[in-house]
Amino acid sequence: QAKSLGRSRSVVFELAMAADQRDYYLLERDLDEAIERDQLSLVFQPKVDLISRKAVGLEALVRWNHPTRGQNSPSAFIPIAEHSDQIIRIDRWVMRNAVAKQAERHSEGLPSLPIAVNLSIADILSPNLVPYLTGLLAEYGVPPQALEIEVTESCFMRQLAETRNVLRALNDSGISTSLDDFGTGFSSLSYLRQLPLQCLKIDQSFTHSMLQDHNAEKLTQAIVAMGNALKMKIVAEGVETREQMNWLLAHGCHIGQGYYFSPPVPPEDLQQVIERLEVRLSA
Ligand code: C2E
Ligand code: MG
Ligand code: MG
Ligand code: MG
Repeated sequence: QAKSLGRSRSVVFELAMAADQRDYYLLERDLDEAIERDQLSLVFQPKVDLISRKAVGLEALVRWNHPTRGQNSPSAFIPIAEHSDQIIRIDRWVMRNAVAKQAERHSEGLPSLPIAVNLSIADILSPNLVPYLTGLLAEYGVPPQALEIEVTESCFMRQLAETRNVLRALNDSGISTSLDDFGTGFSSLSYLRQLPLQCLKIDQSFTHSMLQDHNAEKLTQAIVAMGNALKMKIVAEGVETREQMNWLLAHGCHIGQGYYFSPPVPPEDLQQVIERLEVRLSA
């Protein structure tokens, strides 16, 4: 009986795998046309100074509006895109649209807030990333300080020297760099020493557990202390409650990002969200 149960389980498992595989290829195929068919868009989430309660930056996050599946989460399609050079086409679209957004904000006389874009390892290693970016900035007349790059530790595991060179070249052209999802990867400390990074983004798993879990709290405290000692900007990701915000303020982390302030919003809602932050957070 145990045997037949085992067998039927493995059949179920294989069917699930097959469905996943099919799904994977379907998504990959559709993703090829997403840009041409105008199915990608950007949403923006503010990074908030916890003391002044003002937005100090924005993060651009990609969305894929699939014709039949509706809105696909980037955690579902970015990993697929990362298996081929699709990711490079997608992220170049993201960079162009983020820079275009800056040019638009500037022409509307809106206060300048740097926009961060997320890059994958393939983008970092693609041969002409830096000229592409400086070209874009020149084309739209946007200063390099208006753009930031977020990378994760997974970028460095394989290509540390190459990544360091690219981050340096970005810094040299005036674009600052952030380490995203800090604390979830491996051997973070040696990367921090070796890489030219201006900002540390504490992964949301810390923010979510630090008030419940003593070890998480101590680790978060240590990360903040370390970032401050290295004179890096520190951003806590995934801030959802007033208690989390107060903890961060009390422990020396002064920038937060998360649903407590605002979820990522489409461009048409962005300025209103920015303007209402201060009012809402003071109430
Ligand atoms: P990330 O860069 O760490 O972005 C933060 C993610 O957390 C976003 O998910 C955001 O919507 C979500 N988030 C923000 N505040 C909260 C909160 O208070 N609570 C919770 N539970 N979640 C919050 P999203 O937009 O689904 O993006 C997921 C990941 O996909 C990003 O993580 C990033 O690694 C990747 N990604 C997004 N856009 C791009 C892109 O244009 N290019 C590349 N290469 N990757 C991207
Ligand atoms: Mg990010
Ligand atoms: Mg993150
Ligand atoms: Mg992430």
